[in-house]
Amino acid sequence: MALNKPEETDVVLIGAGIMSATLGLMLKELNPGSSVKIIERLDQAAVESSDAWNNAGTGHSAFCELNYTPETNTGVDVTKAVKICEQFEVSRQFWSYLVKKNIVQNPKEFIHSVPHMSFVWGDENVSYLKKRYESLKTLPLFSDMEFTEDASQIRKWAPLIMQGRGADEKISATYMKYGTDVNFGTLTRKMIDYQSGISGTQVTFETEVYDVKKQADGRWKVLIKDLKTGQKSEILTKFVFVGAGGASVLLLEKSGIPEGKHYGGFPVSGQWLICQNEKLIAQHQTKVYGKASVGAPPMSVPHLDTRYIDGKKSLLFGPYAGFSTKFLKNGSYCDLFKSINFSNLPTMIGAGMKNIDLTVYLIGEVLQSQNKRVEALKNYFPDAQAKDWRLETAGQRVQTMKKDANGKAVLAFGTEIVCSSDGTFSALLGASPGASTTVSIMLNLLERCFAEEYNSPTWQIKLKEMIPSFGQALNNDKALLEDIRKQTSEVLELTH
Ligand SMILES: Cc1cc2nc3c(=O)[nH]c(=O)nc-3n(C[C@H](O)[C@H](O)[C@H](O)COP(=O)(O)OP(=O)(O)OC[C@H]3O[C@@H](n4cnc5c(N)ncnc54)[C@H](O)[C@@H]3O)c2cc1C
Repeated sequence: MALNKPEETDVVLIGAGIMSATLGLMLKELNPGSSVKIIERLDQAAVESSDAWNNAGTGHSAFCELNYTPETNTGVDVTKAVKICEQFEVSRQFWSYLVKKNIVQNPKEFIHSVPHMSFVWGDENVSYLKKRYESLKTLPLFSDMEFTEDASQIRKWAPLIMQGRGADEKISATYMKYGTDVNFGTLTRKMIDYQSGISGTQVTFETEVYDVKKQADGRWKVLIKDLKTGQKSEILTKFVFVGAGGASVLLLEKSGIPEGKHYGGFPVSGQWLICQNEKLIAQHQTKVYGKASVGAPPMSVPHLDTRYIDGKKSLLFGPYAGFSTKFLKNGSYCDLFKSINFSNLPTMIGAGMKNIDLTVYLIGEVLQSQNKRVEALKNYFPDAQAKDWRLETAGQRVQTMKKDANGKAVLAFGTEIVCSSDGTFSALLGASPGASTTVSIMLNLLERCFAEEYNSPTWQIKLKEMIPSFGQALNNDKALLEDIRKQTSEVLELTH
């Protein structure tokens, strides 16, 4: 069947999750005359990883996540924590800009102040947490952090974690009042709704991108299929961003760009225990992060979280990791097998062999009974009872398998942008710290793929308007940090 003449556009964004939603908005703010098409296979935006119950909703600022501050021979390494904290401050500024410009309304529907706590037990962990606190406390970004080994103080911060706990247990905690809970699903839908109504941007649902092909004139042909009618069509575009969540690796492979060779994906699913007892929910008002167990991937650090979803306060514990061969929650069990090819097979075998402990951990998690899950919860809330908690499936994360700088196969746990050398094609892989740092990830993408425009005075001025601290390190400027935190708190209606 002959296809209609291809439509033409400047930009195609594949997927309507938080990544594409943010990039689409940034591009239109920077270049209002550009034409943008957002293509989404589902019937609404942000119902994969970006949706509220599919992630933990932590505004990752490295206040409480102990995996961002590993202990080394020379002390606690805070490099990653500083970077992530800076990046979250950038996100807060961009979201404030959107609110001030009335692009998104009612910030209380997507962000709340929820203090972030780290909580550990046992001599070794208590000593680590103290060292971590002492290293962070000296830095402007973390100078408001509080530390205690005093059970009565911890009880004031988070009463549930002390209920039923032995008086002689060695425990400690840190507390940061600046923590947040973010409903990334609602935020994304607000951003996509706005873009649906502006000139030059078109958002199309229930349409899947099934291939991408580089053209002789330097543009990309994006092949799409209407999932309601089966009708296929094509779009010619100057720039493609694959923001397809876990499925990005599949389209990266199809692009054939040399930079995308050797990449593979390893899916890790997640599950939460969700509290059904309103009295317990009312007693907890923090996000309490602990230490991951041996072999656990960094994103499986257990946490007991206050959430605000659809105007209702709730409480979850998890995530429990699991394994499924799907790359998306609404994906296909063939995804993993479809992703394996001659280019990435050695990487996948190499990375797999080096991560046997992860495999063992995942098998253990998958086979875990409800009683075992509640046992894990009891480490954080000793009085927990199985009847108060139900199990829910979270989103699907696809960890990146790739070759490192030395050509060795590795399983990577961060997020990564892969770009073609000419900057016309890009894909986002990985999922941690994820949604919280979207704005910085997209700034990095703009710098790499739109280098000339990015460095132009017009874009630089606009970027500074969108992100007032743009180009400056907040950790080096306490006055600027305080000013930015104060302003963004006011606009986002946060208590801190
Ligand atoms: C268990 C869990 C906990 C997490 N906790 C946190 C947290 O606390 N804080 C945080 O910041 N981040 C967290 N994350 C990470 C965060 O959720 C992700 O980084 C973020 O949502 C990814 O956004 P995205 O836009 O890339 O992908 P998604 O939201 O998954 O969107 C991708 C979209 O692409 C569409 N799509 C896929 N293939 C195609 C195709 N071929 N054609 C058209 N459309 C397609 C999908 O339907 C989907 O709508 C967590 C993730 C998980 C799984």
